[in-house]
Amino acid sequence: MSYKIGVDLGGTKILVALADAGGKILISRKFPTRAADGLHNVMHYLTGSIEEVLSAGGVSRYELDGAGICVAGFFDTRFKTIVSSPNLPGWEGYPLEQELKERLRVPVLVENDASAAAYGEYLFGAGRGKRNMVNITLGTGIGGGIITEGRIYRGSGGFAGEIGHLIVLPQGPLCGCGRRGCLETLSSGTAIAREGRLLLETGGGTVLREIAGGCEELTASHVFQAAREGDEEAAAIINKAAYFLGLALAYVVNILNPEVITLSGGLSQTGEIFFEPVRRCLKETAIPPSGEMVSVVPAVLGEEAGVRGILSLLEQYLKEM
Ligand SMILES: [Zn+2]
Repeated sequence: MSYKIGVDLGGTKILVALADAGGKILISRKFPTRAADGLHNVMHYLTGSIEEVLSAGGVSRYELDGAGICVAGFFDTRFKTIVSSPNLPGWEGYPLEQELKERLRVPVLVENDASAAAYGEYLFGAGRGKRNMVNITLGTGIGGGIITEGRIYRGSGGFAGEIGHLIVLPQGPLCGCGRRGCLETLSSGTAIAREGRLLLETGGGTVLREIAGGCEELTASHVFQAAREGDEEAAAIINKAAYFLGLALAYVVNILNPEVITLSGGLSQTGEIFFEPVRRCLKETAIPPSGEMVSVVPAVLGEEAGVRGILSLLEQYLKEM
């Protein structure tokens, strides 16, 4: 019997899945990344997590065909190295694919996490049956993966799809990438929480204050709850975040003319309170034929999208070897 390992290496968690020869996921487990412990420790945790999942599945390393890893950050597909990753500090220039190959002694394939998640949604999720789609992950940051004619569009170095760093408000809030006014600073969960805190600090948000207690624990979901319970200032924060997302999606739609845009990550489960203003801004801003064709829907695979995508890419990679 032959098995494959799929890994989603993020800034806070490592998701490891063991799949059988048919691609069916047998076991999947989550481990903390502990990114602050540094590159060498995280690599140790990563290989340890893989070992643990293999042994939980009763699979020896000799039965493993290969491992696919999707990673947060800018991964250079030409040199197979991490260029930079805001969530994995100190990994610049690290040859992840080669290093893992040496540690696991099996073929290894590395892909950007947003591209792998888009591929997963395309094959098994909300993009099934479509040929051209974009998946946007809305969480701590904002990532994007592009599928054109059924294939991942990576661009010339692997950096395509970085919708989170489209500047939608020149001179806006400072982004982790060093620029100002990136979409990520206006429409991510982090941005909504920041605006919520600011609202409380300036004496507003009566309902939000009751729900969240203090500024310290406030998250984006508190802002959504307050808006649902009639807090108009909280609703304005959500509308503003949705407006900037709709604007960025209109740029994507004008360039790529996709059939569907799937939204994943924490904010994708917020329902019409968020989706309706996103769609409205998109339709008002995009050119009519493309804007009318595209639908904006929640992704369905949740946090498994990345490992599902990378496992399929690994299967193709092993066939072509
Ligand atoms: Zn940025």
